Amino acid sequence: MSVDIRGSLDNCVKCTICETFCPVAQATPLFPGPKYAGPQSERYREPGTSVDASLDYCSGCGICTQVCPQGVDIAEINARARAQMRTERGMPLRDRLIARPTLLGRLAQPVAPVANAVMRTGLARRAAESALGIHRDAALPSFSARTLQSRARRRRRPGGAGRTVVYFHGCAANYNEPDVGMMAIEVLEHNGFEVIVPPQGCCGLPLQSNGNFGPARSHTRELVSRLAPLARDGHMIVANSTSCGLMLKREAREILGIDDPDLALVGERMFDICELLRDLHDAGELRTDFHPLPMRVPYHQPCQGRGHGFGKPALDLLRLIPELEVIETDRECCGVAGTYGLKKEKYEIAMRVGASLFADIAEARADCTACDSETCRWHIAKATGVPALHPLELLHRAYRLS
Ligand code: SF4
Ligand code: SF4
Ligand code: SF4
Repeated sequence: MSVDIRGSLDNCVKCTICETFCPVAQATPLFPGPKYAGPQSERYREPGTSVDASLDYCSGCGICTQVCPQGVDIAEINARARAQMRTERGMPLRDRLIARPTLLGRLAQPVAPVANAVMRTGLARRAAESALGIHRDAALPSFSARTLQSRARRRRRPGGAGRTVVYFHGCAANYNEPDVGMMAIEVLEHNGFEVIVPPQGCCGLPLQSNGNFGPARSHTRELVSRLAPLARDGHMIVANSTSCGLMLKREAREILGIDDPDLALVGERMFDICELLRDLHDAGELRTDFHPLPMRVPYHQPCQGRGHGFGKPALDLLRLIPELEVIETDRECCGVAGTYGLKKEKYEIAMRVGASLFADIAEARADCTACDSETCRWHIAKATGVPALHPLELLHRAYRLS
C-alpha cells in the first residue's frame, strides 16, 4: 500500500518541535530547519519547480519525523524534494560514487591491501578532497581482501539446528567488516539457528539518501527478488545493519514509493539482529551463557535504530553480560548520517552535530563504544580515537565463540 507522504504536511500545526530537535539546524545556519524545508516549502512545490538548495543540508537522519507530534513525514518529504532537486540540477560525481558501496567493494576487494594503504596517505586524501569533494579527515572504511560471502560459503556449519534464518548482511559486512558478519552468523548459530547466506546486493539506501531514486529502486528490486522467495518459504530475515533493515522494512516503500507485494513480504519478515535476539530472550529462548566482560562501554543508538520503533534491543542485550558497564548515551545523532559526513562541505557540520556524543565518550574513559550502524561506528571511532564495535561483537566475545 503506498503512503501519502505529501498529504501529511497538512497536519503541521507549526509547533516548531522538529526545529528544536533537528541536529543540523542546531549546528549550522546554512540549513533553515525541518519545518521550513519540509511542510512549509513543500506546500508551494510543484513537479518541475525549483527546490531551495539549502534542502541539501538536511542529513536525512529522520529525527524530525520521529518527534513530530502531528505525524508529518518531514524527513521523507525532504528526501523526495532532494530527489527532485537532483533531477533538476544533476548529481555530482562524488555522490554517484559514494552511494554505490557494492561497486566500490567489488573494485577495491581484489587490490584491498594496496587500496587501503593508498587511502591512508595524506596525499591520496587531499587528492580525493580536491578532485571529488570527499573531506580529507572523514572516516573511510578499509576493504577486506575476502568478502563475507566467500567466507560464509567455506565455513563449517554446525549440525542439528532446529530453525533457520536468512542473513541479509548488507554491503559493509560483505566488503569492509566480514569479521562482524561472521560473528553475527556465529551468534545466531550458537542460539540454534541454521543461517542461510544467499547471494545479495545493495538495498539502495545510499542512492536514495543522495536523491538518486531511479537506480535506488533498481537496487531494492534486485535485492528483493533474491530475498522474497526465501521469505515466501517462511524464513525470517535478519539484518545486522539497522539502516539496511529499515530500508527494506519501511523506507523503500515510504520514500521510494515501491508498491510491491514482494517488498511488503520481505519487510514483514525482516528483523534487526538485536531485535530478534532480544525477542528470543523475552521468550526465554536466548542462550545466556555469557562470560564476564569487565569493560566500560557507552552505547549509542543510531538515528535509524529509532526509526524501527523497537526500543533499544542492543542495550537490553548488552545489559545481560556480567560485569559489562553499559552507559546509555542520550545523544540524538553522531552526525555522519550515512554518506553525509563524508562530504567536504558537510564534514564540519557532522562533527559539530556529534560533538556532545564525542565529549560523553571521552568523559566516560571508555574501553570501546557500541553502536549498531557501521558508518556511525567509523565516524565515532575516528572522531574519538576510541574503538567502536557492533553490539554483536561484545555478545560474541561474552559467548567466547571461535
Ligand atoms: S513538529 Fe510537526 S507539527 Fe510541529 S512544526 Fe514540525 S512538522 Fe509541524
Ligand atoms: S532529517 Fe534530520 S537533518 Fe533533516 S530536517 Fe529532519 S532532523 Fe533535520
Ligand atoms: S544500507 Fe546496507 S545494503 Fe544498503 S547500501 Fe548501505 S550497507 Fe548496502
